[in-house]
Amino acid sequence: MIMQDTTKPFTPHEAVYPLYIGGTERSSEGEASFSVTNPSTGRKLAEFSSASESDTDLAVAAALDGFHRGWGRLMPKERSRLMNRFAAEIRRRVNDFAFAETLDVGRPIALTSGEMEGLAESVEFYAGTLLALSGETLNVSDPTLADFTLREPLGVCGLITPWNYPGLLAILKIAPALAAGNTVVLKPSEVTPLSAALLAECAQAADLPAGTINIVYGGAVPGMRLVRHPGVAKISFTGSTLTGKRIFVEAAQTMKKLTLELGGKSPLVVFDDADIEAAVEAAFTDNVRNSGQVCAACTRLIIQEGIHDDFVERLEERLRSVAIGIADRPETRMGPVISDIQRTTIEECIDTAAREGAVVRRYSDLTDRDDLRAGYFVAPTLLLESRSDMKMSRAEIFGPVQSVFRFCDEGQAVELANDSEFGLAAAVFTRDAARAMRSARAISAGTVCINTGRKVSVDAPFGGFRQSGFGKERGVEAMLEDTQLKNVRYSLS
Ligand code: NAD
Repeated sequence: MIMQDTTKPFTPHEAVYPLYIGGTERSSEGEASFSVTNPSTGRKLAEFSSASESDTDLAVAAALDGFHRGWGRLMPKERSRLMNRFAAEIRRRVNDFAFAETLDVGRPIALTSGEMEGLAESVEFYAGTLLALSGETLNVSDPTLADFTLREPLGVCGLITPWNYPGLLAILKIAPALAAGNTVVLKPSEVTPLSAALLAECAQAADLPAGTINIVYGGAVPGMRLVRHPGVAKISFTGSTLTGKRIFVEAAQTMKKLTLELGGKSPLVVFDDADIEAAVEAAFTDNVRNSGQVCAACTRLIIQEGIHDDFVERLEERLRSVAIGIADRPETRMGPVISDIQRTTIEECIDTAAREGAVVRRYSDLTDRDDLRAGYFVAPTLLLESRSDMKMSRAEIFGPVQSVFRFCDEGQAVELANDSEFGLAAAVFTRDAARAMRSARAISAGTVCINTGRKVSVDAPFGGFRQSGFGKERGVEAMLEDTQLKNVRYSLS
């Protein structure tokens, strides 16, 4: 395995990245491969082996073997020790992870360089949490029985991740699954597989038992094979609601356990007594962070009539000032979107919104930026005077675009916030504590943030309601969801 020099910015290998199966690198069947692109420049970044169905079968076989003979047989203390060693390898290479994600996703290095420590911390969280994983003794109403529960691992977990936060989203699936005693096959997005390749290198450097973490690259072919494979006990999927629905249907054939983390159209509600600066900052961050390509980003700004114009004016000022540029330049605060297709889709959504009657405002003129011409850049955008019945007020756009609504009273605010097929997250800004609590209860979303922008951390559960999916990621809950609960009823007579 080629190890990187951590003192220099990371550059991808020239050679084709191999699959990682049973603790070793493997080329794909027929040496098939695909290339990935740097969205800041439109240039080729790296070449990856493309897994066929039979390559995926090999990865599942290696994971099953690892479950029965390796990782799955380790005592909790040993699992915890090895996970901490894996975390240390990740921490040693946070700089590489930061550059890899910046080149692959287009998220500015100013952001990624502060984020990647979170990968190691997430593994450490579960390395600690697993030590307390246990069943319960139950006081059943039958004096002839001693009754207790066992938390058992599931076996092989298939992990399918999207392109927007590839490093973190992979780790948030790998760490709880391993903590619970499972082995995994990861299939990262074919658009941004670079951080998964680094994870393979870290797993190997940490000397995890063969078959503990297996990685196959490609799109729907290896993805669907994992979903259909009878040897895979659970699929943990993060991605679009459309793909999530396909997986839901297919997984029924083998009755797999599922966690589905899907799309969102989260509301940010600002009452007229709020700290307006804090609310503007939260809205601004969700518009520009990762160029708006964040599942839980608040993309519906629901603003009370009395402060609406002031709020919009302040937000416009912030959006106008954001430094858009090539993602690996230190001064850049907003990079490109992921692909030319994504850029076109976003621009079409903006055109549709204009036709529907929204007042479209763009906050940067990119036409005279020669340096950005080859990349996939979209200017921060607001859709003012939006209404809930507009298509673009309901669809997930996945770009730097937010719809802005007006409301008069609390009832109307909650109604607008809940008027969505999705239910991933929400934010409410008000200085009235009782109203804040009422809103937290009334808004139907997996996470509600009060007087702060959207915040996530490994130690608090995260997951959607309705068409945003089901199951939880992060927190102890993610580890529990990667177990099955067995009840043992022991006769005392
Ligand atoms: P996507 O659904 O196109 O792809 C997600 C993953 O599924 C990729 O690895 C892809 O290769 C794979 N895949 C595609 N078709 C498949 C099939 N038929 N069978 C099995 N696997 C298949 O999503 P995307 O464009 O990569 O990511 C963007 C979406 O992800 C957005 O909708 C966003 O909201 C969502 N997302 C949700 C969360 C969350 O926590 N809820 C987090 C991040 C992103």
